[in-house]
Amino acid sequence: MHAGDAPDAATGALDAPIVQATTYAFADADDAAGQFAGTREGYIYGRWRHPNGRCLEAKVAALEGAEACVAVGSGMAAIHGVFAGLLEAGDEVVAPQSLYAETARLLATVFARFGVRTRYVDLRDLDAARAALSPRTKIVWAETPANPVLDLLDLEALAALAHGAGALLVVDGTFATPYHQRALAFGADLSVHAATKALAGHGDAVAGVVSGRAELVAAVREAGARSAGAAIAPFVAWLVARGLKTLPLRQAAASANAAELAARLEAHPAVAHVRYPGLGSHPQHALARRQMERGFGSLVAFELAGGEPAGRRLYDGVALIARAVSLGDLRSLLTFPAATTHASMAEAQREAAGIGPGLLRLSVGVEDVEDLWRDLDARLG
Ligand code: PLP
Repeated sequence: MHAGDAPDAATGALDAPIVQATTYAFADADDAAGQFAGTREGYIYGRWRHPNGRCLEAKVAALEGAEACVAVGSGMAAIHGVFAGLLEAGDEVVAPQSLYAETARLLATVFARFGVRTRYVDLRDLDAARAALSPRTKIVWAETPANPVLDLLDLEALAALAHGAGALLVVDGTFATPYHQRALAFGADLSVHAATKALAGHGDAVAGVVSGRAELVAAVREAGARSAGAAIAPFVAWLVARGLKTLPLRQAAASANAAELAARLEAHPAVAHVRYPGLGSHPQHALARRQMERGFGSLVAFELAGGEPAGRRLYDGVALIARAVSLGDLRSLLTFPAATTHASMAEAQREAAGIGPGLLRLSVGVEDVEDLWRDLDARLG
């Protein structure tokens, strides 16, 4: 709550004022030259750095236990910034098969054209992960928990493998937030979050953050924010910083709701199976207990015994829960992956990834859990 915030020197305002300026005045030529050379502190131009961005970055760095953080205009800008800042032609990325689809698309449609090769492996299998590494591997990319079936990756083991091969481990921990999982503490070199989700938390800001060692973050800032122009707007940075002040309260409430709904769904005869890292039935529950703290997050995936028709009936019928993409919002959001976000995947590939035709993914919000259960229970049949 307090990191990055200090009473405003000019006004005494406790909350950081929103500074919309695009450009900042220099005291004199020495000041201007010093700021350009990086030997003097200050702000030069809004695309490079601004007070609201700096406040947000200090908060996220404190949460992550990181030396530095850079905030940018979306989660994808953060991911793009990592690749653009750290990769060269001829480098390889080792990535998991369960991966946010836009990340895979960015690697395939943009970075492949610049000579970056991506090898997809099931990173839950450490032997397969080891076999995929080569002297050209620059980044091992991990996403945990992963969309939509909440597979987990062992960050400590992957950090050891990546470092042994001279590569970096970069973790997209959006589903967990730093409240439940601090990737850097397990040896990751960079931690990436779509701040659009639970960090901002109110469904009103699109943003991304990358945290880690100062020299790596500086490379991402250069490529991802400055050169790519993916700057975060001051008002958006202010919104995310405001959201972070209640992250522990929101995340504790949402993950307690998710754990309760996951248990009730699992016990219901109309439900075929439930995936939630906090359930003993999750195949990687032991890893979840080791790697996640203060609960297991707000995402639950489940499939009804009645398959796709039953899934569609529930999806169409919910009244309090919104039929909408995204996650980490105050309100609960339901997605129907096989028919929407993962519709372009071949059916066999979807099945292999555990995405059945009737799978539903619920991002649980902070509503009263009994209201949420009534909404679901009435449609379970
Ligand atoms: N990473 C994960 C795991 C996501 O779920 C998303 C968006 O859903 C992103 C990255 C991209 O974030 P944004 O939509 O802010 O670009």
